Amino acid sequence: MASIFTKIIDGKIPCYKVAEDENHIAFLDINPNAKGHTLCIPKIEVNKIFDLNSDQYLLLMEFSRKVALALEETISCKRVGMSVIGLEVPHVHVHLIPLNDMKEMTFQNKVTMDDQAFKALAKDIAAAISL
Ligand code: 5GP
Repeated sequence: MASIFTKIIDGKIPCYKVAEDENHIAFLDINPNAKGHTLCIPKIEVNKIFDLNSDQYLLLMEFSRKVALALEETISCKRVGMSVIGLEVPHVHVHLIPLNDMKEMTFQNKVTMDDQAFKALAKDIAAAISL
């Protein structure tokens, strides 16, 4: 069965997209740890990150780096944290989280944003990305 992220890639369910290239897409996490929490995913449906082949892995890291640089430019933060978990969604994704405090990496600390705020933020981040 297609993962929820494959449904996002296929446009079957909506997302707040910030970047896309031939092999990847980046969009805002729907339940963010912090403002700007973004997921970078490969379009191929692979469950675990270290099951990607070397080229796929390196391309995902390079794509994620470009998105992270745009997050740093757009959002007031000390740095952008990176995490890979995948216990909820079995489709490789890199969490990029603009950090001001360690608690923002714990996945216990959530921020609430409405549709308008998500849309405006995604637009600002997208404008800062050069792929
Ligand atoms: P993990 O699999 O790394 O534990 O967490 C999956 C992440 O995906 C969570 O942070 C969760 O909020 C996010 N997520 C789950 N479903 C959706 C969705 O349909 N849309 C978006 N944008 N994020 C999702």
